Amino acid sequence: MTATIIDGKAIAADLRARVAEGVAAFRQSAGRVPGLAVVLVGEDPASAVYVRSKGRATREAGMESIEHRLPADTDTETLLALVRSLNADPAVDGILVQLPLPKPVDTQAVLLAIDPDKDVDGFHPVNAGRLATGMPGFVPCTPLGCVMMLKTVHPDLTGMDAVVVGRSNIVGKPMAQLLIAESCTVTVAHSRTRDLPAKVRAADVVIAAVGIPALVKGDWIRPGATVIDVGINRTEAGLVGDVDYAAASQVAGAITPVPGGVGPMTIACLLSNTLDSARRRG
Ligand code: NDP
Repeated sequence: MTATIIDGKAIAADLRARVAEGVAAFRQSAGRVPGLAVVLVGEDPASAVYVRSKGRATREAGMESIEHRLPADTDTETLLALVRSLNADPAVDGILVQLPLPKPVDTQAVLLAIDPDKDVDGFHPVNAGRLATGMPGFVPCTPLGCVMMLKTVHPDLTGMDAVVVGRSNIVGKPMAQLLIAESCTVTVAHSRTRDLPAKVRAADVVIAAVGIPALVKGDWIRPGATVIDVGINRTEAGLVGDVDYAAASQVAGAITPVPGGVGPMTIACLLSNTLDSARRRG
């Protein structure tokens, strides 16, 4: 049996079309368009690519993209002043500071300075706390996209056993929180986990967010399980995920490809969070 492929591109295109409709309706009622401010510091080529594609997607959805490009030697104070001015700007509904920031910058201070109600990345501790306690707030885009993809296979996740491999603040931990909120029974695995294959074999839902090519083997997957591969690893063979796709897709019930899986959903969810922010602001 080969797995159903969860088509992230198609699901993301759907979401983006819905956001564009929402933006058009918002424009009618509010008399303005939602605005997303993106701050890029320095010349990191991967970051520049991400910022470009976020800007393009924002404009395609009918929103305003406000881009701030600063030189690599920008200091923390200058960045804090920029964030404060974006916080105060009524045309800005979302603020995104592209990470990583250059070494001398105090990344923590910059992220903490963002108004939690404009933190469309959902990285601010206030939003992490809201997610953990079931209050409305912004949810980090990558795990939000993963849940949307999961729901195309399992509209109701109640009672399912899920394993999240990875415990980062931007993927693993919020992913676990979202699955708990969906009434899954959640195991969070990491680099110190004992017998990872056994933890994965016990799961109906596997989320891999590690950053090691093909760490999760095909024979770790329970037959029929749903596998969401968050990993994006650049190798000589091209972009690969954290799951051995060729082997896992022979066992799983459904699986996301890399590329074309989680990646496209992340930007679509960013647009969706920005529209939500604009609606809350009015
Ligand atoms: P981090 O490096 O912040 O976290 C990796 C996690 O994996 C850590 O919790 C670490 O454990 C765990 N880990 C490392 N080695 C092992 C191992 N051998 N067995 C089990 N767990 C292990 O990465 P991110 O969460 O930021 O990203 C994870 C992956 O997802 C990357 O490939 C990244 O490129 C990709 N990504 C993709 C996105 C998308 O849009 N599709 C967005 C964001 C990330 P410990 O805590 O113990 O160190």
